[in-house]
Amino acid sequence: GAKPKSYDRVMLKISGEALMGDQGYGLHPPTVARIADEVDSVHKLGVEICMVIGGGNIFRGLQGSAQGMERTTADYMGMLATVMNALAMQSALEAKGIHCRVISAIRMDEVAEPYIRRRAVRHLEKKRVIIFAAGTGNPYFTTDTAATLRASEMNCEAIFKGTKVDGVYDKDPVKFPDAKRYETVSYDEVLQKHLGVMDASAIALARDNDLPIIVFSLDEPGGFKGILEGRGTYTRVHG
Ligand code: UDP
Repeated sequence: GAKPKSYDRVMLKISGEALMGDQGYGLHPPTVARIADEVDSVHKLGVEICMVIGGGNIFRGLQGSAQGMERTTADYMGMLATVMNALAMQSALEAKGIHCRVISAIRMDEVAEPYIRRRAVRHLEKKRVIIFAAGTGNPYFTTDTAATLRASEMNCEAIFKGTKVDGVYDKDPVKFPDAKRYETVSYDEVLQKHLGVMDASAIALARDNDLPIIVFSLDEPGGFKGILEGRGTYTRVHG
C-alpha cells in the first residue's frame, strides 16, 4: 500500500486497560492480538511505530498509595506493570512476524533493552516497532507523559492516543448523548476546560514541543490505519 504522505514516524499510546478486554483486570490475549493487528496494518504501510502502553490494567501508583502504600514504591510497581504489558504486546507482534524491541526506562537487561536514544532511532530506521516500557522511569509521572517525552525524543510527527471513544468531547459521551466531539481543539483549551485527553503535564509537554495529539477509537477495527490514511473520526489536539 502507499504510505500516507503526512506520517513517517508516529507514537501510539494506549492505556493498560485497552489490553484487558471485558475482564476488568489484567491481560486478555485475544485483545492484545487484536491491537497487534492494528499495529501490523500500519506497519505494513511503512510507517515507523513507537508505542507506550500504560499499566492501569494491573497496577496504578495512586491506587496503591490510597491504600497506604508509600507513593514512590507504588509508582515503581505501576511502572513494572507497564513492562508486563509491553512484553505481552511484543509477543503478540512477533507472532505476526513483526520485529519488535521493548526498551525499558528502568534497567532490567535480561528482559528489555535499556534506553539509548540513538539505538532506539536505529531500530525505527530498520522498521522495528519499539515499545517504551516503565514509563519515564520516574515516580509521579504517567505513561501519557512518557509517550509525549519519547515521541519528542524520537521526532515522531504525532501521538496517536487510542481510547474507547472516537475523539475529545465537551462532556463524557458515554453519560451524555448530546456530548459534542471536537474536530480540533487547542492544548490550552484542553487544559482550561479539563478535557480528559491526557494529564496536564503531558499536554503541556506536547504543547511546548508542538506535538499534535490525535485521539481516536481503538475499538473500531482498522481505525488506526484509517486515520493515518485520512479516514474515520478523531480529534486533533494542536497549537
Ligand atoms: N508510572 C510512573 N511513572 C511514569 C509512568 C507510570 O510512576 O513515568 C506509574 C504510575 O504509578 C501509574 C502507573 O505507572 O499509575 C501506570 O501508568 P498509567 O497510570 O499511566 O497507565 P494507564 O492509565 O495509561 O493504563
